Amino acid sequence: MSAKSQALFDKALQWIPGGVNSPVRAFRAVGGAPFFAERTSGATVWDADGNEYIDFVGTWGPAILGHAPKVVVEAVQKAAVHGTSFGIPNPLEVRMAELVVNAVPSVEKVRMCNSGTEATMSAIRLARGFTQRSKIIKFEGCYHGHVDSLLVKAGSGALTLGQPDSAGVPPEFTSQTIVLPFNDEEAVHAAFARHGSDIAGIILEPVPANAGLYLPRDGYLESLRNITTENGALLIFDEVMTGFRLGLAGVQGRFGITPDLSCFGKVIGGGLPVGAFAGRGEIMDCLAPDGPVYQAGTLSGNPLAMAAGIAVLEALADGSVYEKIDALGQALSDGLASAAKAAGVAVQLQRIGSMSCCYFAEKPVHNMDEAMRSDRERFGKYFHGMLQEGVYLAPSQFEAGFISAAHDEAAIEKTVAAAAKVMKTL
Ligand SMILES: *Cc1c(COP(=O)(O)O)cnc(C)c1O
Repeated sequence: MSAKSQALFDKALQWIPGGVNSPVRAFRAVGGAPFFAERTSGATVWDADGNEYIDFVGTWGPAILGHAPKVVVEAVQKAAVHGTSFGIPNPLEVRMAELVVNAVPSVEKVRMCNSGTEATMSAIRLARGFTQRSKIIKFEGCYHGHVDSLLVKAGSGALTLGQPDSAGVPPEFTSQTIVLPFNDEEAVHAAFARHGSDIAGIILEPVPANAGLYLPRDGYLESLRNITTENGALLIFDEVMTGFRLGLAGVQGRFGITPDLSCFGKVIGGGLPVGAFAGRGEIMDCLAPDGPVYQAGTLSGNPLAMAAGIAVLEALADGSVYEKIDALGQALSDGLASAAKAAGVAVQLQRIGSMSCCYFAEKPVHNMDEAMRSDRERFGKYFHGMLQEGVYLAPSQFEAGFISAAHDEAAIEKTVAAAAKVMKTL
């Protein structure tokens, strides 16, 4: 921690609750105070004191092309000249919708909004409106933004702070939310046996990445698809993190599952504030102005955000970025695993494509309970050791790390060398 960041944080603490505009940034899970980022480029972040870090947070997922990629900066500059918001349809919205519909087979129509939270909030409202049912199933450890009714056993910041539930959410608001363990087909069958005709849908991160990162067991996503179809409920994939990150069609493309609705955010906005929800036309047409489900946004489809998102999606279109970042992901996980082994530190390197988590745990992780068994104190030491070595990891054991197209083999080697050094001190 250096002088300028510390001075900024001291002031921030006076004027901003906890000094941050989103809780996980406060480093509470690892101790110490956050650094203040002043400038970024590619895979690098510089803090207010001029320290340089290789970044594996990538603004929590959006920066798939790295920071400040030329195509995005130029697209935003070009759009800004013509106005930063119109509040009336603009051509970029149509292009964005076309890109999403063409990339994701389950999507026939898409509505843009301003954050992942808005996307999931609106998707469950739409599912309830379409099915005319009330109950929603969510899973422990899955984070869907800070939507009242979904802040139950949510991951991410809520988990890190040790408060899976939030104050200020009346029990009535979560009374229609059924919370089940992930990767447990029996639990879902039991819930449908009991509440079947009241269940509007299941919302999940098909690859949960807000309690670290763990994968669905073989056949699990298929079982969710089948049981929702059989019961007239909707399957909602929250691909805010995984959408356009694990391939153009996200997890649904990788696993070959067709959800009814999907939520997007992060990558799709190119680093500007964006979310989207999308799906079958018949369902999407229940939205206002065509249908009875109300949803709106003054800044939705904002021209700067659309321009940034379009630039990213066009850069991803030929698939070569995924080949690169997935290969680097593999190299990083392999390198970290051998560093840990050499140091005699028990870790579980869990990865899919360019997303990964290094759990300080004895056994593989398949759900939130197992994630909670990891050694958070050890993670905190590892985090600070790596930061000291110029590597910025997400400041919590329960977050995924991201690789961008701006990372290269040298960055991975440097990171693995740092880990080899730090792991020996744990
Ligand atoms: C980040 C995230 C959200 C929330 O998105 P915001 O833009 O932070 O509101 C929702 N769902 C998942 C899976 C996420 O990773």
